[in-house]
Amino acid sequence: MSLSFDPEQISLPVGHFIGDRLLEAPGLLPMRRPSDGSFHAECPIASEEIVDEAVQTATKALKTSNWGGGRPRERANVLRRWADLMESEAEALAQLEAVSSTRPVGQLVAGDIAVTAEQIRFFAEFADKEGSDLVPTDDEHLGMIMTEPFGVVGAITPWNFPISMAGWKLGPALAAGNAVVLKPSEMTPFSSVFLAQLAVKAGLPAGLINVVLGDGLTTGAAITGHPDIAKVSFTGSTGAGAAIMANVARTGVKPMTLELGGKSPQIVFADADLEQAAAAIAGSMLANAGQACVAGSRLIAHALVAEPLVEAILARMKAVRAGPTWDAATTYSPIISERQRARIHAIVQAACAEGAECLAGGEPMKGSGYFYAPTVLANVKQSSPAISEEIFGPVLTLQTFTTEEEALVLADHPTYGLAAGVFTRDLSRVLRITRALSAGTVWVNGYGRSRDHILPTGGYKHSGIGKDLGREAYHANRRSKSVLIHL
Ligand code: NAD
Repeated sequence: MSLSFDPEQISLPVGHFIGDRLLEAPGLLPMRRPSDGSFHAECPIASEEIVDEAVQTATKALKTSNWGGGRPRERANVLRRWADLMESEAEALAQLEAVSSTRPVGQLVAGDIAVTAEQIRFFAEFADKEGSDLVPTDDEHLGMIMTEPFGVVGAITPWNFPISMAGWKLGPALAAGNAVVLKPSEMTPFSSVFLAQLAVKAGLPAGLINVVLGDGLTTGAAITGHPDIAKVSFTGSTGAGAAIMANVARTGVKPMTLELGGKSPQIVFADADLEQAAAAIAGSMLANAGQACVAGSRLIAHALVAEPLVEAILARMKAVRAGPTWDAATTYSPIISERQRARIHAIVQAACAEGAECLAGGEPMKGSGYFYAPTVLANVKQSSPAISEEIFGPVLTLQTFTTEEEALVLADHPTYGLAAGVFTRDLSRVLRITRALSAGTVWVNGYGRSRDHILPTGGYKHSGIGKDLGREAYHANRRSKSVLIHL
């Protein structure tokens, strides 16, 4: 059965989800569908009062349900049931996501939703398996490191992979015994509301997930500055991450996980398997049309292999199938908004005006919707905004090198250190380069996540603080108390 659907037939849950009910709210922010540019909804903006109601509801739910103090295995069971429901309702969930985002419906069902359900199960397993520690002390004492949930976690997510990002935040926070107030992006809020509704249906005590809709300046700031939000977990741009740190500092201190922007290099040496490298590099730029934090947007290729490598990448770029996100055959996504597409185009034009050579694309695609052609820019100056700025679109820059040292100089970014790719058959070089790279993740002879959720993700430099996924994400949602008993 085809997953294609009619976007006009989708009914959107426009409102905040607080406790176990949808609080309908007037829409304030106009939303346009990226696939055809048509106006399709308005996103409400939760005021400070509504955010406070969500936080109070979460606090009360933690007390009445004893979620953090009850039997850990029961927490795990509820989360597994929630994951099952995500899979059985995958089509409805995918439609809500696809209609207003850049995620094609086919990729959602087989990818984002399937992976998110597995990640929720992954985190559920921590609930009854990771505990506190008895530590070595002398016989006169007993030392313990006791871990506990924080209480109410404030989570804020971006628009580029809304379901996946909500899963990264909700899974570990809930498994670790917390409640969550989640603010999805104002551009793609509805799938998060549905995820919360499914969680309650799965038996999660009402009030443990509350979803408030709104923008960063009003709703986001009300969450991060709320005195009863014990921890902030944020994914988004570096600028917004810095603003959140400042806002938190205004009212005190609290722990933060910040997953921020990137401008990741992919270094290809002359001995690399070029077909393998081309597939990985093109795949990373074409996935969500380059609108991914880890997009490997800076190709740094050995001068001897740059030409055949780029040819193989271009062949893959030509094979994309752009189309509306509600068409099951679509493999290439639109850009999220007209404004973002114009920004991408301005950076490309500025690079070309400075002497960069456009080997492919370099312009918006014809037709309705905010599509931008897959683009490759060669001879780009290291000082160009095409190299220094996170473009967040399908634009790959090419720079060449002849020595390993040169490659490392080009790869090092003054601001970002999220991820990097290395392609070579030389194991010693792999280890040397991996050590030298300033990046939170290094992928070798491939690019992108596997379905092993145990590998954490997070950035060096301005790409972030702390990790999502892996054991780290679970532990980041618990705090530890050192206890010394004098016997
Ligand atoms: P954004 O920073 O504009 O917005 C992200 C979220 O933060 C939204 O919900 C927004 O409403 C909210 N927000 C904005 N300003 C805020 C403020 N001052 N206080 C509180 N909340 C605020 O980012 P975006 O355009 O939605 O997403 C793209 C960015 O996200 C890119 O920079 C990308 O690299 C990054 N990202 C990072 C990761 C990662 O794991 N490192 C993953 C996905 C996306």
